[in-house]
Amino acid sequence: MSDYPQVADGLIRAIENWPEDGVTFRDITPLLADPQGLSATVTALVDEARAFGPIDVVAGVEARGFLLAPLIAQELGIGLVPVRKAGKLPADVLSESYSLEYGDAVVEIHTDAVTAGSRVLIVDDVLATGGTLAAAVRLFERAEAQVAGALVLIELPALRGRDALVDVPLTALLEY
Ligand code: AMP
Repeated sequence: MSDYPQVADGLIRAIENWPEDGVTFRDITPLLADPQGLSATVTALVDEARAFGPIDVVAGVEARGFLLAPLIAQELGIGLVPVRKAGKLPADVLSESYSLEYGDAVVEIHTDAVTAGSRVLIVDDVLATGGTLAAAVRLFERAEAQVAGALVLIELPALRGRDALVDVPLTALLEY
């Protein structure tokens, strides 16, 4: 979908100084609310997901990865695994912490979320510093899955998130 960036660009809203001063928040809610925008987004994400080769399961990162990952999984005819913030999953978990500007954050998956050797595609809305996706990658590696790739709607290249994901194929549909 070579015209996808033009379709999406007008539907992604930049909110200056939110949630804190100096951050330009990329708000995808207008894109999700627009029928053509949503449809074009799913088509573009699924096209890129297929380019990673065989995928056994799609992993969505809380919270906005949850809005995209199930749509991709459904189109590919495969299942979905949630990567959740700490303390949300009810059964035994694997946990990985990562650094935020102030303090740490933790992401978790169930210990039985994936079978060893399965090929996982990790999905989130935005790649910023890469800390979140890198922690998600570590979770699936500890579960002995193979991370086939990471797929995001938006990459913020100035924050060099790709550098945190050296051995993981990464695709972004848009850059700001
Ligand atoms: P990072 O771990 O720094 O790559 O941050 C990625 C996570 O934070 C993703 O789950 C995004 O949803 C969120 N995020 C970071 N920066 C932004 C931004 N400028 N606009 C929207 N979401 C962001």
